[in-house]
Amino acid sequence: MSSPMPTDAQSNLTTAQLCGVDSGHVQSVPGEASPLIRLQPAVVQAYQRMQAAAADAGITLRIASGFRSFERQAAIWASKFDQLRPPITADELHKVLRWSALPGLSRHHWGTEFDCYDPVALRGESLQLEPWEYASSGPMAELFNWLSTHAHSFGFYRPYLSDDGPGVAAEPWHWSFAPLASLYQHHYDKPQAILDALEVHYRDFDVAGREHLNHQLESLVERYMGSVATIPEAALGAASRGT
Ligand SMILES: [Zn+2]
Repeated sequence: MSSPMPTDAQSNLTTAQLCGVDSGHVQSVPGEASPLIRLQPAVVQAYQRMQAAAADAGITLRIASGFRSFERQAAIWASKFDQLRPPITADELHKVLRWSALPGLSRHHWGTEFDCYDPVALRGESLQLEPWEYASSGPMAELFNWLSTHAHSFGFYRPYLSDDGPGVAAEPWHWSFAPLASLYQHHYDKPQAILDALEVHYRDFDVAGREHLNHQLESLVERYMGSVATIPEAALGAASRGT
Protein backbone atom coordinates (compact mmCIF):
# COMPACT_ATOMS: atom_id res chain seq x y z
CA MET A 1 0.00 0.00 0.00
CA SER A 2 1.45 3.37 -0.91
CA SER A 3 0.91 6.20 1.52
CA PRO A 4 -0.83 9.34 0.34
CA MET A 5 1.47 12.29 0.67
CA PRO A 6 1.47 16.05 0.19
CA THR A 7 3.69 16.84 -2.78
CA ASP A 8 6.28 18.77 -0.77
CA ALA A 9 6.47 16.21 2.04
CA GLN A 10 9.68 14.54 3.14
CA SER A 11 8.95 10.86 2.95
CA ASN A 12 12.14 10.13 4.80
CA LEU A 13 14.30 11.84 7.39
CA THR A 14 17.97 11.32 8.19
CA THR A 15 18.84 9.68 11.49
CA ALA A 16 20.09 13.07 12.70
CA GLN A 17 16.69 14.59 11.92
CA LEU A 18 14.80 11.72 13.57
CA CYS A 19 16.94 12.31 16.68
CA GLY A 20 16.49 16.09 16.66
CA VAL A 21 20.14 17.03 16.23
CA ASP A 22 19.42 18.40 12.73
CA SER A 23 16.48 20.81 12.29
CA GLY A 24 16.79 21.27 8.52
CA HIS A 25 13.37 19.68 7.96
CA VAL A 26 11.32 22.24 9.93
CA GLN A 27 10.21 25.86 9.51
CA SER A 28 8.46 28.40 11.74
CA VAL A 29 4.67 28.13 11.83
CA PRO A 30 3.23 31.55 10.83
CA GLY A 31 0.86 33.15 13.32
CA GLU A 32 2.01 31.23 16.38
CA ALA A 33 3.22 32.86 19.61
CA SER A 34 6.90 32.30 18.81
CA PRO A 35 9.03 31.71 15.67
CA LEU A 36 10.56 28.84 17.66
CA ILE A 37 7.35 26.90 17.05
CA ARG A 38 8.35 24.84 14.03
CA LEU A 39 6.96 21.97 11.94
CA GLN A 40 7.67 20.44 8.55
CA PRO A 41 6.30 22.57 5.65
CA ALA A 42 3.75 19.92 4.64
CA VAL A 43 2.56 19.70 8.25
CA VAL A 44 2.26 23.49 8.49
CA GLN A 45 -0.04 23.44 5.46
CA ALA A 46 -2.29 20.75 6.89
CA TYR A 47 -2.27 22.44 10.30
CA GLN A 48 -3.27 25.81 8.84
CA ARG A 49 -6.19 24.23 6.96
CA MET A 50 -7.35 22.65 10.20
CA GLN A 51 -6.80 25.88 12.12
CA ALA A 52 -9.00 27.82 9.66
CA ALA A 53 -11.77 25.23 9.98
CA ALA A 54 -11.51 25.37 13.77
CA ALA A 55 -11.74 29.17 13.65
CA ASP A 56 -14.99 28.85 11.67
CA ALA A 57 -16.30 26.81 14.60
CA GLY A 58 -15.25 29.48 17.11
CA ILE A 59 -12.12 27.69 18.28
CA THR A 60 -8.69 29.33 18.42
CA LEU A 61 -6.21 26.56 17.68
CA ARG A 62 -2.61 27.28 18.71
CA ILE A 63 0.53 25.22 19.23
CA ALA A 64 2.21 25.07 22.64
CA SER A 65 5.07 22.91 21.39
CA GLY A 66 6.01 21.66 17.92
CA PHE A 67 9.47 20.53 16.85
CA ARG A 68 11.86 20.02 19.75
CA SER A 69 15.60 19.70 19.31
CA PHE A 70 17.70 16.97 20.93
CA GLU A 71 19.30 19.67 23.05
CA ARG A 72 15.96 20.99 24.31
CA GLN A 73 14.71 17.49 25.07
CA ALA A 74 17.99 16.76 26.88
CA ALA A 75 17.40 19.82 29.10
CA ILE A 76 13.83 18.73 29.88
CA TRP A 77 15.06 15.21 30.61
CA ALA A 78 17.90 16.47 32.86
CA SER A 79 15.47 18.47 34.99
CA LYS A 80 13.37 15.33 35.56
CA PHE A 81 16.26 12.93 36.01
CA ASP A 82 17.90 15.17 38.59
CA GLN A 83 14.84 14.70 40.81
CA LEU A 84 15.25 10.92 40.89
CA ARG A 85 17.00 9.44 43.93
CA PRO A 86 19.34 6.50 43.46
CA PRO A 87 19.04 3.60 43.20
CA ILE A 88 16.86 4.33 40.19
CA THR A 89 14.41 1.48 39.67
CA ALA A 90 12.59 0.65 36.45
CA ASP A 91 9.37 1.84 38.09
CA GLU A 92 10.79 5.23 38.95
CA LEU A 93 12.23 5.65 35.48
CA HIS A 94 8.83 4.80 34.01
CA LYS A 95 7.12 7.48 36.10
CA VAL A 96 9.27 10.03 34.28
CA LEU A 97 9.23 8.45 30.82
CA ARG A 98 5.44 8.16 30.75
CA TRP A 99 5.33 11.95 30.46
CA SER A 100 8.76 13.04 29.22
CA ALA A 101 10.67 11.47 26.35
CA LEU A 102 14.36 10.76 26.36
CA PRO A 103 16.44 13.04 24.15
CA GLY A 104 16.59 11.54 20.66
CA LEU A 105 13.43 9.51 21.33
CA SER A 106 10.71 12.15 21.14
CA ARG A 107 8.29 12.18 18.24
CA HIS A 108 8.51 15.96 18.53
CA HIS A 109 11.90 15.66 16.78
CA TRP A 110 10.12 14.61 13.58
CA GLY A 111 8.40 17.92 12.87
CA THR A 112 5.09 16.08 12.49
CA GLU A 113 3.87 16.43 16.09
CA PHE A 114 2.40 19.26 18.10
CA ASP A 115 0.82 19.89 21.49
CA CYS A 116 -2.11 22.29 21.10
CA TYR A 117 -4.44 24.48 23.10
CA ASP A 118 -6.96 27.31 22.77
CA PRO A 119 -5.53 30.52 24.29
CA VAL A 120 -8.94 32.23 24.35
CA ALA A 121 -10.57 29.40 26.29
CA LEU A 122 -7.82 29.68 28.92
CA ARG A 123 -9.33 33.01 30.01
CA GLY A 124 -6.07 34.31 31.41
CA GLU A 125 -5.06 31.11 33.19
CA SER A 126 -1.76 29.54 32.20
CA LEU A 127 -1.68 26.27 30.31
CA GLN A 128 -0.49 23.26 32.34
CA LEU A 129 -0.80 20.55 29.67
CA GLU A 130 -2.53 18.31 32.19
CA PRO A 131 -5.34 15.83 31.35
CA TRP A 132 -8.01 17.59 33.44
CA GLU A 133 -7.77 20.67 31.20
CA TYR A 134 -8.85 18.58 28.19
CA ALA A 135 -11.51 16.59 30.06
CA SER A 136 -15.22 17.36 29.62
CA SER A 137 -15.34 19.99 32.39
CA GLY A 138 -11.95 21.54 31.56
CA PRO A 139 -11.19 24.73 29.61
CA MET A 140 -9.89 22.76 26.58
CA ALA A 141 -12.95 20.48 26.31
CA GLU A 142 -14.42 22.27 23.31
CA LEU A 143 -11.10 22.23 21.46
CA PHE A 144 -10.61 18.56 22.28
CA ASN A 145 -14.11 17.60 21.13
CA TRP A 146 -13.74 19.51 17.88
CA LEU A 147 -10.37 17.92 17.11
CA SER A 148 -11.65 14.48 18.03
CA THR A 149 -14.37 14.88 15.40
CA HIS A 150 -12.44 16.69 12.66
CA ALA A 151 -8.65 16.20 12.98
CA HIS A 152 -8.58 12.93 11.03
CA SER A 153 -9.92 14.66 7.93
CA PHE A 154 -6.86 16.96 7.98
CA GLY A 155 -4.43 14.06 8.46
CA PHE A 156 -3.96 14.32 12.22
CA TYR A 157 -4.40 11.65 14.90
CA ARG A 158 -3.45 10.96 18.51
CA PRO A 159 -0.55 8.53 18.99
CA TYR A 160 -0.88 8.64 22.80
CA LEU A 161 -4.41 7.52 23.24
CA SER A 162 -4.54 5.40 26.34
CA ASP A 163 -3.17 5.09 29.86
CA ASP A 164 -3.41 1.30 29.72
CA GLY A 165 -0.34 0.56 27.59
CA PRO A 166 3.28 0.19 28.72
CA GLY A 167 4.47 3.39 27.03
CA VAL A 168 3.67 7.09 27.07
CA ALA A 169 0.57 8.22 29.01
CA ALA A 170 -2.56 9.43 27.23
CA GLU A 171 -1.90 12.97 25.99
CA PRO A 172 -5.11 14.60 24.76
CA TRP A 173 -3.13 17.65 23.57
CA HIS A 174 -0.70 15.75 21.34
CA TRP A 175 -1.51 15.34 17.63
CA SER A 176 0.53 13.73 14.89
CA PHE A 177 0.48 14.11 11.09
CA ALA A 178 -0.28 10.55 10.04
CA PRO A 179 0.87 10.53 6.38
CA LEU A 180 4.45 11.30 7.46
CA ALA A 181 4.61 9.92 11.01
CA SER A 182 3.46 6.54 9.65
CA LEU A 183 6.65 6.41 7.58
CA TYR A 184 9.06 7.49 10.32
CA GLN A 185 7.63 5.09 12.88
CA HIS A 186 9.15 2.13 11.02
CA HIS A 187 12.67 3.28 11.88
CA TYR A 188 12.04 2.19 15.46
CA ASP A 189 11.05 -1.40 14.64
CA LYS A 190 14.68 -2.23 13.84
CA PRO A 191 16.36 0.68 15.56
CA GLN A 192 20.07 -0.10 15.14
CA ALA A 193 20.79 3.14 13.24
CA ILE A 194 18.98 5.13 15.93
CA LEU A 195 20.80 3.30 18.75
CA ASP A 196 24.18 3.91 17.10
CA ALA A 197 23.37 7.61 16.74
CA LEU A 198 22.14 7.90 20.32
CA GLU A 199 25.34 6.38 21.66
CA VAL A 200 27.27 9.21 20.02
CA HIS A 201 24.82 12.00 20.91
CA TYR A 202 24.46 10.92 24.55
CA ARG A 203 28.20 11.21 24.93
CA ASP A 204 28.55 14.45 22.95
CA PHE A 205 25.69 16.18 24.78
CA ASP A 206 26.61 14.59 28.13
CA VAL A 207 23.00 13.46 28.63
CA ALA A 208 21.96 13.17 32.29
CA GLY A 209 22.01 9.59 33.61
CA ARG A 210 23.47 8.18 30.40
CA GLU A 211 25.52 5.59 32.30
CA HIS A 212 22.17 4.34 33.59
CA LEU A 213 20.41 4.48 30.21
CA ASN A 214 22.99 3.20 27.72
CA HIS A 215 22.58 -0.50 28.45
CA GLN A 216 18.78 -0.42 28.21
CA LEU A 217 18.23 1.96 25.30
CA GLU A 218 17.03 -0.78 22.97
CA SER A 219 14.23 -1.84 25.33
CA LEU A 220 13.37 1.81 26.05
CA VAL A 221 13.03 2.44 22.30
CA GLU A 222 10.71 -0.54 21.99
CA ARG A 223 8.63 0.47 24.98
CA TYR A 224 8.25 4.20 24.39
CA MET A 225 8.49 4.55 20.60
CA GLY A 226 6.80 1.24 19.81
CA SER A 227 3.77 1.40 22.11
CA VAL A 228 1.62 3.90 20.23
CA ALA A 229 -1.93 3.90 18.95
CA THR A 230 -2.76 2.37 15.58
CA ILE A 231 -3.02 5.03 12.90
CA PRO A 232 -6.64 5.51 11.79
CA GLU A 233 -7.18 4.98 8.07
CA ALA A 234 -9.20 8.20 8.00
CA ALA A 235 -6.11 10.22 8.97
CA LEU A 236 -3.80 8.36 6.57
CA GLY A 237 -6.06 8.95 3.60
CA ALA A 238 -6.80 12.60 4.33
CA ALA A 239 -3.84 14.13 2.50
CA SER A 240 -4.63 12.43 -0.79
CA ARG A 241 -8.22 13.67 -0.70
CA GLY A 242 -6.95 17.21 -0.36
CA THR A 243 -9.23 18.00 2.56
ZN1 LIG B 1 3.60 16.23 22.70
